[in-house]
Amino acid sequence: MILSGSEELKKKYLASLAKGDGMFSYCLSEPDAGSDAAGMKTKAVRDGDHYVLNGVKRWITNAGVSDYYTVMAVTDPTKRSKGISAFVVEKSDEGVSFGAPEKKLGIKGSPTREVYLDNVRVPADRMIGEEGTGFATAMRTLDHTRITIAAQALGVAQGALDYAKGYVRERKQFGKPVADFQGIQFMLADMAMKIEAARQLTYAAACKSERGDSDLTFQGAAAKCFASDVAMEVTTDAVQLLGGYGYTRDYPVERMMRDAKITQIYEGTNQVQRIVMARNLP
Ligand SMILES: Cc1cc2nc3c(=O)[nH]c(=O)nc-3n(C[C@H](O)[C@H](O)[C@H](O)COP(=O)(O)OP(=O)(O)OC[C@H]3O[C@@H](n4cnc5c(N)ncnc54)[C@H](O)[C@@H]3O)c2cc1C
Repeated sequence: MILSGSEELKKKYLASLAKGDGMFSYCLSEPDAGSDAAGMKTKAVRDGDHYVLNGVKRWITNAGVSDYYTVMAVTDPTKRSKGISAFVVEKSDEGVSFGAPEKKLGIKGSPTREVYLDNVRVPADRMIGEEGTGFATAMRTLDHTRITIAAQALGVAQGALDYAKGYVRERKQFGKPVADFQGIQFMLADMAMKIEAARQLTYAAACKSERGDSDLTFQGAAAKCFASDVAMEVTTDAVQLLGGYGYTRDYPVERMMRDAKITQIYEGTNQVQRIVMARNLP
């Protein structure tokens, strides 16, 4: 919306978003179109001064909670990615409904559901940008939002290190705190080193996002990919540092390990991030 929406759309929706009155969900993925998002099947067919939307969007964060949905849909099936347009769909629009909450490995506090669009009629002026520019807008959006996933990963990793650091100083084996063993110290040093590298990359990418730098696509993908891989490694090591206790729900690090996993998957898997980086090498 900020990147491509008309002034009217921005006035109508961003004010309530900024006030915290209305939240937006991002609807790109479908049951059969994940990494290959341009293979989506959701259609929007022009009917007078409206478009009629039909299809299923899958894995939508905050579906059912958000009042507004940015929905990518095919307006010209002959053009693949250049035949996709973006629309604002409202929760209250007739024909909008939601699937059952997904039962997930982690991020259980974040609702994920399908969004069903069954003959949803939206006024033509709810199109974001020009017809056929929706996919390009969706990709430009990801350049910015991937950095928020890097930040999420970084926070989870830092939390796991902080917890494990405190634990190994308290836990005694062989008559002394396990933190006194060099094998443990080397693990902590590696964890802290990787987190710091992830932090620098994430902050640098965030600056590029604010400035709109030309190498943002590479940097955003690199920050997301690196920070999420670090989060997975660090949280797994944190479980290791707590031994058997780390493997139980009595301690928070197993949850952090489960929460870290999603950061390698959503906003484009880390395989997809590597494709993006390879196509945009500095
Ligand atoms: C909890 C959660 C929340 C989500 N929230 C949203 C949301 O709000 N909005 C939204 O639109 N989507 C959302 N997603 C969807 C998410 O972005 C997709 O799951 C992700 O892009 C991967 O798509 P897929 O699951 O279909 O996997 P697939 O694309 O089927 O991939 C399967 C495997 O193949 C690999 N792969 C695919 N293509 C290639 C290739 N060319 N080269 C190498 N490897 C490849 C993938 O990396 C993966 O390992 C969410 C997903 C989850 C789980």
